Amino acid sequence: MAAMRVAEIIRRKRFGEELSREEIEAVVMGYVRGDVPDYQVSAWLMAVCCRGMSKREVIDLTSVMVASGSILDLRGASLPVVDKHSSGGVGDKTTLVVAPLVRACGAAVAKMSGRGLGFTGGTLDKLESIPGFRVDLSKEQFVTQVEREGIAVAGQTPELVPADRRLYALRDVTGTVESIPLIASSIMSKKLAVGAQGLVLDVKVGRGAFMKDLDEARELAGLMIEIGEASGRRVTALLTPMDEPLGRAVGNALEVAEALETLRGDGPRDLADLSLLLAGEMLYLAGRAASTFEGREMAQRAMASGQGLEWMERLIALQGGDPRVVESPGLLGRAPVVAPLPAPRSGSVTALDAWWVAQAVLTLGAGRATKEDRIDPLVGVRLLAKQGDAVEKGEPLAEVHARDDARTKRAMAELLHAFEIGEEPGPVAPPLMERLGA
Ligand code: URA
Repeated sequence: MAAMRVAEIIRRKRFGEELSREEIEAVVMGYVRGDVPDYQVSAWLMAVCCRGMSKREVIDLTSVMVASGSILDLRGASLPVVDKHSSGGVGDKTTLVVAPLVRACGAAVAKMSGRGLGFTGGTLDKLESIPGFRVDLSKEQFVTQVEREGIAVAGQTPELVPADRRLYALRDVTGTVESIPLIASSIMSKKLAVGAQGLVLDVKVGRGAFMKDLDEARELAGLMIEIGEASGRRVTALLTPMDEPLGRAVGNALEVAEALETLRGDGPRDLADLSLLLAGEMLYLAGRAASTFEGREMAQRAMASGQGLEWMERLIALQGGDPRVVESPGLLGRAPVVAPLPAPRSGSVTALDAWWVAQAVLTLGAGRATKEDRIDPLVGVRLLAKQGDAVEKGEPLAEVHARDDARTKRAMAELLHAFEIGEEPGPVAPPLMERLGA
C-alpha cells in the first residue's frame, strides 16, 4: 500500500471514521512486513486511542493480528482445553493454583503467559524462580505437552501474533497503551492464537490494576467477550477487586511458596476463594461441570485431596524444574535480609494500597522498570496484616525480603504509605464484583 494511502487511513481515523478490514490490514500487516514505517503506525495508534473503534473494527483488528502469525492446533488433545487470562494485579499468582486444580479435575490447561513490566513479575517470572523451570517451550513442545499431559504454562512463542509484539513495543513508547480497543485486541489476539475452546478472563479493578474503575473494566471485559464469541470461543469474564494485593506474598519465589500453600489448603482466604471461582468457571466452560458452582466444588475437592498439588509437582517436573520444592519450599531460597516493618500505631488496617506495595516490591528488585531489567527472584514482601486486621503499635505489618539494607530502608518507607491505620476496621472486599458472559 502506498504511503499516501496510509496517510489517508490515519486521517480518516483522526476524524473518527470507521475503517474497513482492508484498511486496518494495510496498516497492521504493512507494519509487520516493514512496508509501513513506525511514524505512520504511531500516528494511527494515537488516532485510535483518541477516537476509539467500533466493535466491528476491533473484531477485524484482532483477526488481522491473529492471522499475522501461526495458530496452535490443539485438536489432538484428548481432554477439553481451557485457558485463563488475568489483566494483571499485585500478588496475582492465581494461575499457579488454578492450572493444576483444573487439570486435576479432568480439563486440559494451555496457558501462554507474559512477563511482568512495571509491577511485580508476571507468571513466567514467578515460575522461573523454581530452580530449573523452563518457560521457553517451542510451539511443538507446548502442543505435545498439552496433548500428552493436559497441562502447559509457558511463554508466548515468537511465531504467535508477531503483530502484537511489534505494536505493543511501539505503544509502550508512544503513550498509546491505555486504549480499550487496543488492549482488548492485544490480549484476545494472543488468546485466540492459542486455540483453547474456553477462556476465563479475570479483569482486575482498582488501585493496583490497569482498570481503575468498574465501568472501564466492564467495557473492556464486554469487548473481549464479543471478540472471543465472534471466533466461536466460549468466554466468561470475572471482574475482581485489586485495591489491596491478592494474598499475602508479593515477589516471585514468595508467591510460588504461597501458591503451594494454597494448593495444600493453607493459603490466604482471598487467594483460595478467587482461585476456586476461576477454576469453577474453567471447568464449566470445559464441560466438566454442569454449573460454575459444581466446578468450584470439584476444584475444592481437588485442593482438599492434594491432587491439585500433585499436578503442580508434575507440571514442575515436566518443564525441567525441581519438583522437590513442593515438599520443601525452602529450596526456592531466601533473600539475605528479612526485616519486619513495625506498625507506627495501634488500630485497624482500613486500607492497604496495592500500588504502594508494588512500588516497594519494584524498589526491592522483584519487578521490571524496563524490559532489560533483571528480576531478583527472592525479594519481595509478605503482608502480615491486611485490610480489616487489628494491629498493635510495634507489631510487624509486613516482612521485607531484600538484597541489602539500603533497599530494605527505601522499600519500608514506600510500604508505610500503603498501610492506612484507623479506628474501625474497613470492609473486606468480596472476591467477585461482577460476572459477564457465557
Ligand atoms: N496486556 C496485553 O497483553 N496487552 C495490552 O495491550 C495490555 C495488557
